[in-house]
Amino acid sequence: METLDIVQEATSALKRPAFKERYEHFIGGEWVKPVRGEYFDNISPIDGKPFTQAARGTKEDIDVALEAAHKAFRTWSKTSVAMRSKLLLDIAQIMEDNAELLARVETIDNGKALRETRAADIPLCIDHFRYFAGCIRADESTMSEHDEFTVSINLQEPLGVVGQIIPWNFPLLMATWKMAPALAAGCTVVMKPAEQTPTSIMVLMELIQDILPPGILNVVTGFGPEAGKPLASSPRVAKVAFTGETTTGRLIMQYASENLIPVTMELGGKSPNIFMPSIADADDEFFDKCVEGAVMFALNQGEICTCPSRLLVHESVYDRFMERVVERTKSIKLGHPLAEDTMMGAQASNDQFQKILSYMEIGKQEGAEVLCGGGPANLNSGLENGYYVQPTIFHGNNKMRIFQEEIFGPVVSVTTFKDTAEAISIANDSLYGLGAGLWTRDAHEIYQIPRAIEAGRVWVNCYHAYPAHAPFGGYKKSGFGRETHKMMLNHYRQTKNMLISYNKNKLGFF
Ligand code: NAD
Repeated sequence: METLDIVQEATSALKRPAFKERYEHFIGGEWVKPVRGEYFDNISPIDGKPFTQAARGTKEDIDVALEAAHKAFRTWSKTSVAMRSKLLLDIAQIMEDNAELLARVETIDNGKALRETRAADIPLCIDHFRYFAGCIRADESTMSEHDEFTVSINLQEPLGVVGQIIPWNFPLLMATWKMAPALAAGCTVVMKPAEQTPTSIMVLMELIQDILPPGILNVVTGFGPEAGKPLASSPRVAKVAFTGETTTGRLIMQYASENLIPVTMELGGKSPNIFMPSIADADDEFFDKCVEGAVMFALNQGEICTCPSRLLVHESVYDRFMERVVERTKSIKLGHPLAEDTMMGAQASNDQFQKILSYMEIGKQEGAEVLCGGGPANLNSGLENGYYVQPTIFHGNNKMRIFQEEIFGPVVSVTTFKDTAEAISIANDSLYGLGAGLWTRDAHEIYQIPRAIEAGRVWVNCYHAYPAHAPFGGYKKSGFGRETHKMMLNHYRQTKNMLISYNKNKLGFF
């Protein structure tokens, strides 16, 4: 079945139109043709075929979008928090009403399994909008008395027009993590989605365009150097929020430094997932949960910044545990991501597919042992040209490139440790510090080991949960700033302090 047929089948049941032949930019509440008139193909990773086109944005389009966002800021920044909160709730409701459509569109755009977009991506987006709708209403200015006659009031004012640049691994969720707090704070937005996945966000814009005040949210599609760079370098943005690779993040900071504006950075990772000896003493149910916890490297085809891509297993439990982990990994069902029983879909792009395969070769050349997988998954039935790889486990040591470099695919590298000190030392022997996992039945370890790990998020006896309200962000080269929490509001605001004197008497200096 052709991809387009699948969309039509999926969407006609929902009484929604199929993809448009091409999507223009969404600017000032309207669909706007790219100034240079150019478009590019959006390829579905499911079968390697184009399924729609996106506008190929350039500096000229960014300038048009910034103008619309500045115009909208004059009114949006003055709206009541009740109105901003209501808009976020309305967006959440529309997403909920169209959840199945959005889940399918996201799967076609990105290649991830429908069971994940249904159960995770879309519900998390909805909850995120609701969370920030609540936060902004609960947020209060602070006031304090300095002395009998002097009062200090701290007001949080929106920064202005913000630029937001996002990656392709969770297109709608990454967009939501950025849009929701910015709009709640009273900023207006120009967003640049990833060129690999420009479509699902445009389908969302179609769904919400009638309820959005024009210009508060503008989306310009295109490539990084052509559309992302002019956005991040513009003197007309008050802040840049970026999620993507560490190397790109460094460039974005350089552009932003020219204009002395703040940035928040959500960057790469190489997260350790540590299994302590006490998991062997646990009941079968918990041991089985640990096995699943190790196999979490395959969630979202491994294309998650926090992918638990380094598995650290205590030597006393290694044999018994890894036998189960390898067995479970081999049972992952790969296939068409829209099929109900598919557990792992396609990698998001051909570039990413090739990069993962090249790391598999690097691992083999470095002398790592392949415990399972290790190459492309050759699927048939129309999927021959899609980007499918086998979930892969390597055994090696932490000095290898496959332990140190972000592969961003369903590839995990496992090693053993002798004691807690060695586990912590291996875990921290990384440029990155985004996520980490710890699995143990020992109450002391539950507190002490996470405290010693250099990472912004440590999951204990769980992994890959991203609830709104739990701050998320990196240590070290994984970035700075915290998303998914109300503290993100302050990354989109600046504090105005008013110091008010009620004293009739002058100071007496002059
Ligand atoms: P990327 O850095 O290649 O691209 C991200 C975005 O930046 C895209 O929209 C791209 O067009 C744009 N871009 C590229 N070059 C640019 C430039 N010179 N100027 C301005 N914009 C530019 O990253 P990717 O491959 O899309 O995403 C994968 C990366 O994202 C991984 O490293 C992953 O770890 C990271 N990531 C991090 C988090 C997090 O929360 N920490 C979440 C998801 C993904």
